[in-house]
Amino acid sequence: MTRRNLFSLLAAVGLAGKSPAAAPPAAAPTAALRSDIVPLRLSDAQWRERLTPQQYSVLRHEGTERPGSSPFNVEKRKGVYACAGCELPLFQSQHKYESGTGWPSFHTPIEGSLGTKTDFKLLLPRTEYHCARCEGHQGHVFDDGPAPTGKRYCNNGVALKFLPEAS
Ligand SMILES: [Zn+2]
Repeated sequence: MTRRNLFSLLAAVGLAGKSPAAAPPAAAPTAALRSDIVPLRLSDAQWRERLTPQQYSVLRHEGTERPGSSPFNVEKRKGVYACAGCELPLFQSQHKYESGTGWPSFHTPIEGSLGTKTDFKLLLPRTEYHCARCEGHQGHVFDDGPAPTGKRYCNNGVALKFLPEAS
């Protein structure tokens, strides 16, 4: 190989390394999410402006509201519970139940509306779940729920917006 050809080869390799195909892949989704959900990405300042301080703490920084503080604990109307950050429907009222925990609880989410991840904030691993559209934190899911799923989606009421069914 001549010196000139060697330089050409190195140049070609260098270019290949900079091609878009070599870019690192985007983070993998945490769950099988609905393909019709367009992600909502806002800056921290935009979220602060859009949310109340309590909503901001829970949705954007995985805060937890005081148990028993949510009016949704006693909400009995038919309707949909949507994300307070972006209004994506997350739960239906018929899947809500009284868990006795002081937080609104559901046994079944609307399919594809939630993503999950494991957190270790309390040492023992817990499954955190969040809105599939804006990634706003909603709560944690446990395995001590009622039939048919056996799951307990323990949700911060402040992270939800209730949309009553038109009667
Ligand atoms: Zn959302």
